[in-house]
Amino acid sequence: MTTYLPDLLRGKAAFVAGGTSGINLGIARCLARYGASVAVLSRSQDKVTAAVDELRRIGPRAEGYAADVRDFGAVQTALTAAAVALGPLDIVVSGAAGNFVAPAAKLTSNGFKAVMDIDLLGTFHVCRAAWEVIRKPGASIINISAPQSTVVQPGQSHVSAAKAGIDMLTRSLALEWGPEGVRVNAIVPGPIEGTEGMARLAPTPEARRAVEGLVPLRRYGTADEIGDMALFLSSPAAAYVTGAIIYCDGGMVLGR
Ligand code: NAP
Repeated sequence: MTTYLPDLLRGKAAFVAGGTSGINLGIARCLARYGASVAVLSRSQDKVTAAVDELRRIGPRAEGYAADVRDFGAVQTALTAAAVALGPLDIVVSGAAGNFVAPAAKLTSNGFKAVMDIDLLGTFHVCRAAWEVIRKPGASIINISAPQSTVVQPGQSHVSAAKAGIDMLTRSLALEWGPEGVRVNAIVPGPIEGTEGMARLAPTPEARRAVEGLVPLRRYGTADEIGDMALFLSSPAAAYVTGAIIYCDGGMVLGR
């Protein structure tokens, strides 16, 4: 793991929705490692407790909230509580998502709605609630998109629709909130090692090799590498970056 400026985020406070496992926990760890106090939110109290315990060992302070991003009131309550517990928030990451493989012809209305509700509506909820507590110059909101927003894949129509919506929501909010100094960007991770997402999309060694073959760098990425991109977007180095949909995908999007 490469270490840059260890105090880069010292004194900052961050909130990571969906930050109790996989890529989002990797982002939370990275922000904590560079000195930020970090709050995480997800549905499972056990996952929240485990993530908070780990983050308290890495960074200055950590808090956690068991809540569902589909419930706007619960998201609002958690963000407000985090701002009280950790101090005014500087960084909000929205990465909660659900995924399953289903051909469009077999996809139910409920299945489609579930992904739209968690990924797209949930991201709107997190951003909208964040606006009330993060509204100041230098604040950074980071949404987590996916290659499916641009790269069409069989069995992923619901995810493509939701993540493409997240990309446009990101650009819309960047346009509207830029005048207040709030930056809104999205990261598009490629296939990431050891995640629930890739366990579902490429469950066998053959499927994994096929995915690696689509990546110009010919490997899966790591949660730390996505954390590094979130670190950049949270830092003064990205002070003039807003409305960007940033691919951190080993070049996967290029070949399609
Ligand atoms: P993951 O480990 O399953 O992480 C999803 C997180 O969201 C968990 O903390 C989960 O915790 C939480 N969550 C799910 N539904 C929620 C809800 N309704 N309300 C609140 N929290 C909820 O998945 P991952 O594979 O690392 O993916 C993380 C993000 O990266 C997602 O946005 C995904 O689309 C994106 N992404 C992943 C990959 C990949 O290679 N894995 C590639 C591109 C993009 P609870 O179960 O406790 O709620």
